[in-house]
Amino acid sequence: MEKRELLYEGKAKRVFKTDEPGMIIQDFKDSATAFDGKKKGEIGGKGSVNANMTVIIFKYLEERGIPTHLVEQLSDHEIATYQLDMLKLEVIVRNIAAGSLAKRVGYPEGQELREPLVEYFLKDDSLGDPMLAPNHIWELGLVTPEQLDEITAVSLKVNELLIPFFEGAGLKLVDFKLEFGLKDGRILLADELSPDNCRLWDTETGEIMDKDRFRRDLGKLEETYAEVLRRVQERMR
Ligand code: UDP
Repeated sequence: MEKRELLYEGKAKRVFKTDEPGMIIQDFKDSATAFDGKKKGEIGGKGSVNANMTVIIFKYLEERGIPTHLVEQLSDHEIATYQLDMLKLEVIVRNIAAGSLAKRVGYPEGQELREPLVEYFLKDDSLGDPMLAPNHIWELGLVTPEQLDEITAVSLKVNELLIPFFEGAGLKLVDFKLEFGLKDGRILLADELSPDNCRLWDTETGEIMDKDRFRRDLGKLEETYAEVLRRVQERMR
């Protein structure tokens, strides 16, 4: 597969055309942003950690019945994926209260939820990614009720698979964000799974092992990202 022209550049990835129809290359960057792009920085090695971790986890999920956009890993920071019609929907699954949920409902960070909670947000930076109820999703024509049922079921299944996966790496899966896209009408899991879009807390010490270290200026960024990948790789051995 040959890399062709840049299709677009996002906050965390560059996307390139390829010589293969229907396939693109996602090149993971070291740059980090938070708070709708207002906070910017670099985390050395992040692109490589996130690409490698996404490949391990997407393969793990594929083997357990979750269809994803992953085609193959091309280098330490590049993966080939199917080109999808991306849904303008961000799905967040939560096991423990943190971040925006803790603020919205007044729970202390760290409170266990009664059961996994699924939330939907509009993927639109200019609007600040507002939260959506299903009725808003129908109004906006983002997906059909049947598609939302499927997306919700897949998201909960991913959570069910990833809780024990991360437990085996000494990490508690607090919450995470998923994105989906359509290929020939089929819903595929897209984007990435990495410390950028999962909250992961050390099982023993409770230490924050994800992008909150960047958002909250907690330091040890490079070391923490590398440590998460090391544990995930170790777990797969
Ligand atoms: N998240 C993300 N991208 C976003 C918003 C959230 O990847 O644009 C992830 C975030 O890393 C966390 C989860 O989704 O794992 C829940 O985030 P939350 O709604 O608490 O928002 P935050 O506190 O990050 O603003």
